[in-house]
Formats: sequence, C-alpha cells, structure tokens
Amino acid sequence: MLKGKSALVTGSTSGIGLGIARALAAQGVNVMLNGFGNSSEIKAVRKQLESDYGVRTLYSGADMSRPKEIATMCAEAEAQFGAVDILVNNAGIQHVSPVERFPVDKWDQIIAINLSSAFHTIRELLPGMRARGWGRIVNIASAHGLAASPFKSAYIAAKHGVVGLTKTVALETARTAITCNAICPGYVLTPLVEKQIGDQAAVHALPREEVIEKVMLEKQPSKRFVQVDEVATLTLFLCTDGAASITGAALPIDGGWTAA
Ligand code: NAD
Repeated sequence: MLKGKSALVTGSTSGIGLGIARALAAQGVNVMLNGFGNSSEIKAVRKQLESDYGVRTLYSGADMSRPKEIATMCAEAEAQFGAVDILVNNAGIQHVSPVERFPVDKWDQIIAINLSSAFHTIRELLPGMRARGWGRIVNIASAHGLAASPFKSAYIAAKHGVVGLTKTVALETARTAITCNAICPGYVLTPLVEKQIGDQAAVHALPREEVIEKVMLEKQPSKRFVQVDEVATLTLFLCTDGAASITGAALPIDGGWTAA
C-alpha cells in the first residue's frame, strides 16, 4: 500500500535512519536521504536501494541545525518527487556532561538538531500533506523523551520537546488522514551509542564492558540492545492504513525501560 509514495528521512546516512530508509524503499517508497558522511558511500547506498527495490532516491546534505538549508531540502524533495507523503524526523546528536558544565554551544546545537529541525520540516511539508489529504509524520524521539537520566540535559529536554511537538501536530491534524507519532527507543547499538559508551566510560571512570552492562543497559530490563530493524518495522506499521487511528502517541520500544 505504500508503493509509489515518497519519503524524507532526516539523518539517514547511518544507524536508525538508514534502517528506516531501507525498510521504506523495500516497500516501494521513493526516499530522500539526508545526513553527513562519505559521498562515495552515500552514492553506493543510493545505487543499492535503487537497484534492489526499483525506487527513486535523492540525497540532501542539509545541516539540520540550519532552518534555511532545511527549507531548501524540503522544497527539493517536493519538487523532485512531486510530494513528500512520509516524513521521518530522525537526525540527532548527543553530548554527555553535568548540567552546570554543559557547553552552551552543545546545548544550542542539540536543541536545534534534535528538536527544532522537526518543527522546520513539519512546517515546510505539512501544507503539501494537507493539500493531498494524506500524510505520515514519524518523529524518532527516545525513551529519554519519557524519562530522564543524569548528564544528558539537552538531549532529554529536546526529546521531551519532540514528544510535545508530536502531540500538538497530532491535535492540529486530527480531522485529516495525516498522523503524527513519536517512537521512543531504548538503547539501539548504532554509531551514536558507540560514541556514548566512550563518553560514559570517561564520566563514570569505568571500562567499556561495565558501561554497557551497568550504565547503558542498566535501565533496559531486557538486557539486550533494541535492533534497528525493530524500529524500522514500527515506523512502517505507523505508515500503514491499519495505523490510521494512532496519532499523538509516544510509543516506547525499549525492552521494558519505561515500564519500570
Ligand atoms: P547515528 O549517529 O548513527 O545517526 C545520526 C544521523 O544523523 C546520521 O545520519 C548523521 O549524519 C545525522 N546527523 C547528525 N547531525 C546532523 C545534522 N546537523 N544535520 C543532518 N544530519 C545530521 O545515530 P542513531 O543512533 O541512528 O540515532 C538516530 C536517532 O535515533 C537520533 O535522533 C537519536 O537520538 C535517536 N535514538 C537513538 C537511540 C540509540 O540508542 N541509538 C535511542 C533512542 C533514540
């Protein structure tokens, strides 16, 4: 049912975003990729998606901390595909530091990339969804959009903000065939988490193995990392007609973390 639709997935050159872009392409969805990375690797990913699934792909290197670049990216996706039916706000970064020493530029950057970019893409792409009478907005928040942990003030403020933005957009679109939901993963082993293991090891002065068991997965009762494919599968489900009445939800996919 998604075949022939078009999607924009922010932060899709790596990790969860790349997994979601792949899963959408496998359903016959044209995808605009976004994010940083090696240009020949990005070209190879596009080529593979196009040949494996017969879809069109685009790439924008827009910086999600820059509203003008976001606007240009959205306009290009709409112009090239003719529509953006599915918007996945996934780009995100992390920084770990006690609040009183949290670098001001890191705070601003995290709020811009992890929260404000979703406002800008929605602001740009919702009018087209309204005009065509169908749309799916999936915001990749975090278990940290529902609960806090120390040393991540900006990330947790941004992710709680994403959940709030999701609810508001859902209410504003409730009488349409557009839905807006947040997915709240626990720890997924991606490059972002690999970096955090190192950062947490420094903050807690613990070796890598102990950080994984005692810090990272301490709150995740399943004691296993969430898989990228599991987040992609939930995203696909939210894009189906079967999920038409799910809107404004913040859905945990966290091995029981927020149940505790
Ligand atoms: P990742 O580091 O593997 O990927 C992040 C992506 O965002 C990359 O494509 C990167 O190029 C892009 N990006 C970073 N800064 C950008 C910018 N300024 N402009 C454009 N693109 C930018 O990370 P990931 O783990 O796949 O995380 C993806 C999302 O999932 C993030 O929003 C993250 O907060 C969220 N999340 C991750 C986990 C986890 O455990 N990995 C858990 C919960 C939520």
